[in-house]
Amino acid sequence: MSKMNKREQDQKRKGFATQDIDWPNCYDGINLLDDKKDPKETMHFKKGDELPEDLKLSLLAKNPQFVELEPVENILPDQQNERPTRKKELTLSDLPGVGAATAEKLAEAGYASLMAIAVATPGELTEAAGVGEAVARKIINTARNNLEMGFVTGEDLMKRREQVIKITTGSKQFDELIGGGFESGGITETFGQFGSGKTVMAHNLAVNVQLSKEEGGASGSVVWIDTENTFRPERIKQIAEARGMDYKEILKNIHVVRAFNSDHQMLIAEKIEDLITKQNIQVKIVIVDSLMAHFRAEFVGRGTLADRQQKLNKHMHALMKLADMHNLCVYVTNQVMAKPDTFFGDPTAAIGGNIVGHNSTTRIYLRRGKAGTRVAKLVDSPHLPDGECCFNICEKGIEDVK
Ligand code: ADP
Ligand code: MG
Repeated sequence: MSKMNKREQDQKRKGFATQDIDWPNCYDGINLLDDKKDPKETMHFKKGDELPEDLKLSLLAKNPQFVELEPVENILPDQQNERPTRKKELTLSDLPGVGAATAEKLAEAGYASLMAIAVATPGELTEAAGVGEAVARKIINTARNNLEMGFVTGEDLMKRREQVIKITTGSKQFDELIGGGFESGGITETFGQFGSGKTVMAHNLAVNVQLSKEEGGASGSVVWIDTENTFRPERIKQIAEARGMDYKEILKNIHVVRAFNSDHQMLIAEKIEDLITKQNIQVKIVIVDSLMAHFRAEFVGRGTLADRQQKLNKHMHALMKLADMHNLCVYVTNQVMAKPDTFFGDPTAAIGGNIVGHNSTTRIYLRRGKAGTRVAKLVDSPHLPDGECCFNICEKGIEDVK
């Protein structure tokens, strides 16, 4: 696209012709190209001419991009036979209603790619860029159309499943329980009482994800959102050395950030995108230890529960989006609360309610077992039966019970 001055840009937005063009009289959007209507029936528009309303509307109905009259070249009669088969790669400012200023605002708010826009909600874009809801909807739809994010076949999904990375826990039995390891593309949650091994698992995964694929890792980097100040580099050193790895290299690939409150925690989760796309860091696991500590402390009492759940939902969505867009694994740890009305079975339940439960792809309950062992119970998985296994925590991290 050639550079336009401001006036030309404005004209373009209002539906003026930006160059001398021959518009077919009864132009019917894309049909023209298909039906090869008589090219003699044309209307001539000089540069700067305003296009008739019905022509603008029919262009808009066919494709929201046309309202800006950008792909004029694509539909000029002499190019009719060269109908592009592949959609043109759009950038943010190519979206309908997005000028340079809006594009900048969107990018600043973390909506820097078409994908980020395509998976956003109108409300999010309204908040981020101050555009109206109708415009936001149109932007999102165009981004979605361009990404061809409609229906996919089961076969495509199967192929996508083949891309899933599985990070080993270090214990064969544990890996088997969860179908091979902690999976990319989703959120895995462990919940359990203090000392049940949630943080040990986090350290363990932060090292294992750096193993090669053959060894059960993903040769990837780690982002660790630490809310309880429990990250310990010395633990990483122990675990890495037990696997014959250079702990200094391992530590270099672990990006730890302390979250000081729930808002900060949410912001960090949104900034991870930059780390991946702008700094080109191959993040393959995002750890949140623990997910609920701040939310639990800040929102006390029933009155504020709805607010808390709403924020928590947003936070988990941000994490899910990361997992999905970058095929990475999200590991969150969760606390438990006593259920005083339980007479049978385990009198504890994960906190966070349905929001955490529904947003976690896989949930694992951890507890202390006999003779210093730990028990992992798979309580929710989209494709695996519930089950249990034992494991040990040792200096090397997590291993099978011998
Ligand atoms: P939480 O579920 O509260 O996060 P942790 O993952 O921190 O619990 O687990 C802590 C437990 O792990 C301790 O109680 C201890 O028994 C065990 N542990 C931690 N480090 C080691 C180690 N180096 N060797 C053996 N056991 C360890
Ligand atoms: Mg812990």
